[in-house]
This record gives sequence, C-alpha cells and structure tokens, in this order.
Amino acid sequence: MTTLPSALGEWRALLGAESVLTPDQATARYGSGQGRRIAAALRPTQAPSVQRIVQIAARHRVPLYPISTGRNWGYGGANPPQDDCVVLDLSLLNRILAVDAELGTATLEPGVTQGQLRAHLDRLGLPFMVPTTGAGANVSLVGNALERGYGITPHADHFGAVMALEAVLPDGSLYRPRLGALGGERVGHSYKWGIGPYIDGLFSQSNFGVVTQMTIALAQRPPHVEAFYVFLDRPEQLAPAVHALRGLLRTTGGVMGGVNILNGYRLASMACPYPAAALARGTPLQAHELAELLQDHGLGAYLVVGSVYGEAPVARAAVATILRAFAPCSGRRVRLTRGKAGLLQSLAARFPGLASRVGFGPDQAARMLSALNLMEGIPDDVALRLPYWKSGTPLPEDLPGGLQSGERGLMWYAPLVPMVPDTVLAFEALVSRVCLQHGFEPLITLTSLSDRCFDSSVPLLFDGRSSSERERSRRCFDMLFDEGRQRGIVPYRMGSQAFHKLAGQDDDPALALARRVKQLLDPDNLISPGRYNL
Ligand SMILES: Cc1cc2nc3c(=O)[nH]c(=O)nc-3n(C[C@H](O)[C@H](O)[C@H](O)COP(=O)(O)OP(=O)(O)OC[C@H]3O[C@@H](n4cnc5c(N)ncnc54)[C@H](O)[C@@H]3O)c2cc1C
Repeated sequence: MTTLPSALGEWRALLGAESVLTPDQATARYGSGQGRRIAAALRPTQAPSVQRIVQIAARHRVPLYPISTGRNWGYGGANPPQDDCVVLDLSLLNRILAVDAELGTATLEPGVTQGQLRAHLDRLGLPFMVPTTGAGANVSLVGNALERGYGITPHADHFGAVMALEAVLPDGSLYRPRLGALGGERVGHSYKWGIGPYIDGLFSQSNFGVVTQMTIALAQRPPHVEAFYVFLDRPEQLAPAVHALRGLLRTTGGVMGGVNILNGYRLASMACPYPAAALARGTPLQAHELAELLQDHGLGAYLVVGSVYGEAPVARAAVATILRAFAPCSGRRVRLTRGKAGLLQSLAARFPGLASRVGFGPDQAARMLSALNLMEGIPDDVALRLPYWKSGTPLPEDLPGGLQSGERGLMWYAPLVPMVPDTVLAFEALVSRVCLQHGFEPLITLTSLSDRCFDSSVPLLFDGRSSSERERSRRCFDMLFDEGRQRGIVPYRMGSQAFHKLAGQDDDPALALARRVKQLLDPDNLISPGRYNL
C-alpha cells in the first residue's frame, strides 16, 4: 500500500508546488507514447533535496524512477519500466562541480549535458574532449555513462571513464567511495577502482540508488586528428575488412578511436534522402533500389570509418598504415582532416555543378565536418536526423523536443558481436532477414570496442504515434533478441520497453546475486522497480 497523496504533500512542501508535476503533466512530459501510467514527477533544483526526496519516498513506500536528462531515446526514453512510478527528473541539477585541469577530470551533477561541458571547457580554455555520442548536445553525461553508453572519442567506453560517483541509497543514506573517506579525494577522482570491493559499478545498469554526482576522466584533445574512410564496394569484402581491422586494432589501436563499420542501408540513412516511391509503397527498400541509391551518391556497399589521434607525424603515419591494410579489400580510401573538410566545403559551395557530378555536395561536406566534430569531442546533433529518415517531413526546429514527443518511433537492438569475420557475416545475415521480414530496413553499425568485440546498433524506425507500428517493432526486436541469443549474440544494453526479454532467466546465478543485493538495499523495491529485470 502506498500513500502517494501524503508523499506528494511532503514533496510540495520541500520543493515548491511548481516542481511537483501532476500525473497528466508527468505523462505528457515523460510518457512518450508507451502507455505507461506515471504517478507524478519531481524536478528538484538543489542537490541536497535528493536525499530528502528519497527519504519521503521510503517513508510512504512510493516507487521513484530517477533520470538524468531522460533522453534515453530508442531505449524507452524517460519511461519507467513499470506503471505508477514517480519520475525523479534530475535535469535541473546541472552544475559542473569541478574540473581538475591538471589531472583531466570533471565532477558533474546528473543534469549536465554534453553541450554544457563543452561550453565550460571552452570558456576555461581547456583542451579536453567531451565524450560525445550520436545523441547530440542536449543529453546528459551521467545517464549515458550509467547505461554504459559509448562513443568514438578515445574514451569510447563511457562507464570505463567513470572515476568515482556518489549516490543516495533507497533508505535515503549516502554512498561515497572509500578513497575519499580515507582522505584521498583528489586521487579517488583519478583512480577508478578505489580500495576494497569495487562498489561504484553496482550503480550502472541497475536500480540500487540515485546517482547524484560523477567524476569522469577527460581525454585531452591531441594536436592532430585525422579521419579515415574506407569504402567497400562489394559484400564479399566485409570479411577481409573485419580481419584487417582486428589486426590494425592490435598493432595501431593505441592511437585509434572507436572504428565504425556501416552497412549500405545505414550509409543510405545518413547520406541519401529516402526515395519517395518506396515511402509511398510502404515496404522496405529492395536490394536493387539500395544499390542504385548508393551508386547515385557515390557510396559503397559498406563504409569503415574511424579516427586517429596524436602528434601530426605519428597520426599521419598511422593513417597511411591503416589505408594500406585495407587496400586489398577496398576500391576507395579517403583521409580527412578538419582543414581538408573545410576546403572541400568551400569548393562544393563555389562549384556546385562539379561537386554534385563527383557526388560531393555541400551537404556531404557539412556531414563530414559534423562527424569530425564528434571525433574531436565537440557535441553535434547531426545523427539526430536518423529517426526522421522515413518521415517524409522536414526536420523539426526543436530536434530533441521532436524526439522526446515519441512521434518518430525508434527502438535500438544493440548487441555485442565477437570480432570474428564469420560471426559478423552471420550476424549481418540474421539482422537483415529478421528486419526485412518485419518490414524494417536493416540499418547496421558495428563499433569496435576492442580488438575482440564490436557493439552493434540497429535502429528500428517507425511511426511512434501508431500502436500497431510500436507492436511491429516489438515483434521484430523480440525475434532479433531470440535468434541472436541462439547464436551467442546478446545486447550490451536494453531499454525499458524490452526488459521483459530478461525475464525467465531465474537460474542465472549473476541475476540471483543482483536480486539479493537489491533485496538487501531496497527491500520495498522503491528505486526503478523492474529495471534490468531486478
Ligand atoms: C540518433 C541517436 C543517436 C544515439 N547515439 C548514441 C550513442 O552514440 N551512444 C550512446 O550511448 N547512446 C546513443 N543514443 C541513445 C541515448 O539517446 C543516449 O544514450 C542518451 O545519452 C541517454 O539519455 P540521457 O543521457 O538523457 O540518460 P537518461 O535517460 O537520463 O538515463 C538513462 C537511464 O539511466 C538511469 N539513470 C539516469 N540517471 C540516473 C541517476 N542519476 N541515478 C540513477 N539512475 C539513473 C535511468 O534508468 C535512465 O532511464 C542515441 C540516440 C539517438 C536517438
């Protein structure tokens, strides 16, 4: 039995009525079309309030669902996995508490966005990179790291870069790492593992507390960043390219950021308008249509794209080595710096006829500069166009607002794929078959996490206003998950719309232990109930 009205009364007294949203306001703001019942929402503006909020929730047994900026797009957004939670929106706690310029760390409240950190570092004249993602400038660093999100800067694994965090536990008490308690706060913000059992990790992809601050390591922007683009003309070049990439990551990986391999459909979604005829027909692009589209835009069957960081001579030599290694499996290889991309952009603007004949218009140049921004730790919204590829409408002005509304439906299937050429081919075949069978284009990206493993991201794009479309994407996701599992391929991260796929694994000892920890810390199941099936 919860006593929600009493808790709401106490929260209003604590935060002010304007910071406590009614169920309708909360559902409109955080519900984004999933039909989830949201009991209320709290928007604290002062960090110390969080502990009091949790204490009130504990006293009245009201479940809370904490979010940082709540833009977990494609993974359920800000939707709690269960009905009747109160969303605890921490986006207004957005102070950058400290930047240690000497050691290269930043201590952040949950609402700090990529864009805010960039502006702050620029204001201080500090040469650090923001760990950017494709989700743009207005998403948090804390929520993304807690979900173990990744990007393509040198600190690609964002939870890997978390040095320390603080959290409010379900009973309202505080967790702080032990090195700080021993007097080593500064060193504790520079060394991930602390001393004794590693506790910080318990707060990622879990529901054991509300994270109120986080210290992340920042990579320094190197003197030279150079991107490489390797176009594979034919499908049979994929396996040798994966093999070449694995070798390169072993020998040259130290200076490389994450490398992406994009299949033709994914390339088309980034570089080509969706053909009107196929949009009207309502069925996915056929192989021959895709081939024509890619040819018209001067693109290959796949693209391998990555970046190299370092002193200019080292980076240039590494790019030369990389391009040489791909020569046997690729017809066209391009190296690009910011200077060269800027020059191409001005040439494309001055000679548009020539530029479109060689398939390099101002749009392509702008996209390449945006990609370089992301590689250099400068947040950029370029990737947010993705959900609008098949909308047939222009991009809305307020992009994040547009995505938040759930109008453009998006669901990610994001599995880990061993870096073994045959497995990659089998994975691609599986995703292509299942997606096409459900009426989705298979848009596949593989991002290297190491020389052993890719994270793949496969977005299912649909009309978010239609419940049958949502159902179709769920069916497709479920089949991808089930068939992937049979081949040993499982997601690195799941969204609130898909936790049901983790149910029924009760003989899993790791899950059993996590549930025991949950029971110990949160016996009334008050923080994010149901998250990751805990
Ligand atoms: C086009 C596009 C491209 C994208 N590209 C990327 C990409 O390159 N890499 C990537 O990782 N993601 C990507 N995403 C997915 C997603 O949008 C981002 O990961 C985004 O950063 C997550 O939203 P957020 O930062 O607002 O986190 P939130 O939504 O605030 O947090 C995520 C979840 O973590 C938990 N949580 C958050 N804060 C707290 C807290 N303080 N205490 C306890 N629990 C908490 C909550 O359960 C929450 O639902 C992309 C999405 C789109 C649409």
